[in-house]
Amino acid sequence: MLIIRTKAELRAMTQDWRRAGESIGVVPTMGALHAGHLSLVDRACAENDRVIVTLFVNPKQFNNPEDLAKYPRTEDSDAEKLTPYGADILYVPDGAQMYPEGFATTVSVTGVSEGLCGGARPGHFDGVATVVTKLFLQTDADRAYFGEKDYQQLQVVTRLAEDLDLKTEIVGCPTIREEDGLAMSSRNLRLAKGPREIAPVIAQVLDDAARVISRGGQVAQALDNARAALLSAGFDTIDYLELRSDPDLKLMTRADRPGRLFLAAWLDGVRLIDNVPVAGLASVPTPEDHPLEPA
Ligand code: AMP
Repeated sequence: MLIIRTKAELRAMTQDWRRAGESIGVVPTMGALHAGHLSLVDRACAENDRVIVTLFVNPKQFNNPEDLAKYPRTEDSDAEKLTPYGADILYVPDGAQMYPEGFATTVSVTGVSEGLCGGARPGHFDGVATVVTKLFLQTDADRAYFGEKDYQQLQVVTRLAEDLDLKTEIVGCPTIREEDGLAMSSRNLRLAKGPREIAPVIAQVLDDAARVISRGGQVAQALDNARAALLSAGFDTIDYLELRSDPDLKLMTRADRPGRLFLAAWLDGVRLIDNVPVAGLASVPTPEDHPLEPA
């Protein structure tokens, strides 16, 4: 695997591949790679002749400078972890490659970027949309691989690729979890031992709420119970816990179509996110359907 740091060198490689008629897959990451990232790389290698993994800690998608400063930077071990997978290039541009002096363009997606992490982290999805647009163009990718772990991001990127007529096809990949159910994330390493043992409660609470809702339980009640369970387990605050439609991410109060439960919560000073699918009920009873029953 070659490590490439400039757009010019990357372009020379992709042009050679194109001349040979080869397809290109890209896996955008911010490094600190774990099995979640590697599952995307594995899939990209299976579906493309050539694969580029990008490693760029994108300052534009951090709205908190402390969060940006604390983000782990582990290029050497990332490169080592990638070795067995057969990716061709690890592309590691620096800030000047991505945002040279005078850079003044923002890609902004409305709708699916609003609320959830878009509400809690103003500007975050503009930063994501801008950097992935650049990475798609720089890598000339046919396919780009994103995790469902960041489901709102996956929908933002899908929307922008469609709206801007980009040739890159967006491929969503399932969330990879630790054995105890916690969604893998570089942030998990920041949890002390005690909080780390509490963290899997997120997955349990989401699964329980999804089960209750998909069996016809009241959405508001299920979400209240889930919030109470998280707070009593030791979570500090909950940024959001919502049922949203899939894939347009509209707020839902009844499970009358397929949706997902989305959660962001703080534990031990670390913000954790997760989401799970909720099957839509074929027919959801409304108070109007049962006028004599209490709503
Ligand atoms: P990041 O480096 O956090 O920006 O993540 C890079 C890509 O890896 C994104 O598409 C994430 O959604 C994906 N990813 C992160 N964690 C996981 C996970 N646990 N399972 C699947 N994909 C993941």
